[in-house]
This record gives sequence, structure tokens and C-alpha cells, in this order.
Amino acid sequence: MQQRKIIHVDMDAFYASVELHDRPELRGQPVVVAWDSIRSVICAASYEARRYGLHSAMSVAKARRLCPHAVYIPPNFERYRAVSRQVHAIFARYTHTIEPVSLDEAYLDVSNYQGPLPYARDIARAIRTDIFTETGLTASAGIAPNKFLAKIASDWRKPNGQFVIAPAQITAFLQSLPIGKIPGVGKVTQQKMHRLGWHTVGDLAKIDRRILIQHFGRWGYRLYEFARGRDNRIVQSNAVRQQISNEITLEQDENRIEIRRHLPTLALTLMQQMQRRQLTGYCLTLKLKTNDFHIHTRSQTFSSPLYTQAALIQAGQQLLSRMPSDQIYYRLIGLGISQFDSRSHQPELWSEDEMAYPVTSD
Ligand SMILES: [Mg+2]
Repeated sequence: MQQRKIIHVDMDAFYASVELHDRPELRGQPVVVAWDSIRSVICAASYEARRYGLHSAMSVAKARRLCPHAVYIPPNFERYRAVSRQVHAIFARYTHTIEPVSLDEAYLDVSNYQGPLPYARDIARAIRTDIFTETGLTASAGIAPNKFLAKIASDWRKPNGQFVIAPAQITAFLQSLPIGKIPGVGKVTQQKMHRLGWHTVGDLAKIDRRILIQHFGRWGYRLYEFARGRDNRIVQSNAVRQQISNEITLEQDENRIEIRRHLPTLALTLMQQMQRRQLTGYCLTLKLKTNDFHIHTRSQTFSSPLYTQAALIQAGQQLLSRMPSDQIYYRLIGLGISQFDSRSHQPELWSEDEMAYPVTSD
């Protein structure tokens, strides 16, 4: 099984750093990027401002109390977008599998890198050097076998640092990691987990999946995987289509009962399309077009990825049963899949417990 190499690159205090770079006379002063209104919130705080407890999303009213002498600069998103494009162009020298998360953050999959640098950590360092040389700004990077760990790692040596979580280190690293470090676990979730007696990711790994789902709903599935250092989500570059789909235009209009017979063909094609790309998907979408050209779609996200023809047919039938039926005739049926995982990292076998069943719809 091939191990993936993912880099998460995160610019340091991005908006504030751009402003400081453009106005060197402000260096050393607490700088806050925010619209200057008592009702607005901070977009970014420089590291100097953070020493006073200021941080992004804090209200300007509160920031003014904590640090009355901070310098306020209104955001200039056009400028940030321009720098972001520059940084993106640097990424593209090293890989084409780039998933921008925001203007200052991106995941890179460098598993297929064929250049002269021996390790992913060297690629990360080269990228950070290029960014600094060409923009004057610093970035931090996390290097790991998946997105979840790479994201945590990029925060580990911030600012202007990088950190590697190698496969052999994952369990030990997570054991004592505070749960608040899990991306997506905010203050409220953290408090809830603390009340349940869970403080580290190691604690979380001891919890039954059913309990996690009971407390956190769909997010429980992810938490269960995260606690084990697992995350199969692919780095979704714009080049990878967000959905794989195929459709059949009928020679004669068919009703909802008749049209069902096309599901096996659609499911088979979909399965083959996924196999070719080494992908599996969590979300299935059924599309029907009526003979008067109205389009109906139904979607369902499942607890584990769908990749067999049987699973796709079964899920397709569920979606079809939710389509309008009375006196309606259809001229087209399509089946699409999205929310991809990397197939090469799926366990070969799924236990009964891990069979796919719906967790959300539409
Ligand atoms: Mg950042």
C-alpha cells in the first residue's frame, strides 16, 4: 500500500503580514486588519498584536480595550488575492495536486513528485523558501500521510516553521495531543468533550464509535477515524472533478418504476470510473429529467464510501423511491458520486459494523 505524502502550507498571520510587508514603518507595532467600526471583528492580528491577546474573529470593541494603541488597517482583499495567486504559482512548481482552502492555506499532495528533492520535508522547505524570497512573507508547513495530520503539523512550529508526522510516529503523537488541536473541534465541542472526561486524542481513541455518533452525529464518524490518525480524504485539486457521473438518455419516456432497470448499468459505469481514478465516494446523487425538461435530483451521504456495484444500485434505488412518481414520465436518468476518498487506502474488507448506511440527505 503506497503511503501518501501531504503538505499543508499555511501563511503566517497572512493579511497582517502582507500589510506589515507593504508598510515597513509599522514593524514592531501591534497591527490589526479590520474594518474600523466598533461592531466589526478582527480579520487578522500581527504576532505583535497577539501578545496582547488579540486574535482573528475577536470584536474590535474588545480589541480596543485590550490594546488601545494597536494600528488598525482596513482589509485589502484584492492585494491578498494577488499574493495568494503568487504563492499558488510557487506550489505549482512542485505538484499539480493543490487544494486551496482559503487565500492563505492549501493542501498539496506530493506523493507523485519526481524532482530532485528526496523527501517531502525538503519540498516543504523549498516551497517556504521560494515564498519568502518572492513575496517577503513567511509560511509554516505540516508534512504527514494525510490531510488531518498535515493540518495539525503546520500549526506545530508556527510561525515560520515546519513539522513532520511520519507514519511510525502517529500513534505516539496523538496519544497526548489535546483534543482542541483537532481541526473542527472548537471551544464548545472541546468543553463538551472535557465534561465527558476526554482530554487528549488518546482518550478519544478509547471511545466506541457508537458513543461518538450519539454525541456528535455525523461528525462522530470522522472523529473516530481522526482519533486513530486516519483520514482518507483526497487533496481535491480543481483539476479533479468534484463529481463523477454518467447518464442515459432514454429512447422512450419511462415512469419511475420502469426507469429503475437502468440503475445496474449506471452503477457499473460509475464503479469503473471510480476504479480508474482510484477513488471512492460518500455522496450519491440521482438525477432525473422529465419529458417536459424539469430536472429532479436527490442526494444522500453515506457513513462509508460506496464502491461496489451492488452498493451503488441499492443506494440508487433508495434515491429513486424519493422521486415524484404520479403521472410523471422521464427522458433521462443519471447517477453521480462525490465527496471522494482515496481508494488505495481503503481496507480490503469491511466488517458488518462498517457497512454503509445513510447519515444525511440532500
Ligand atoms: Mg494562516
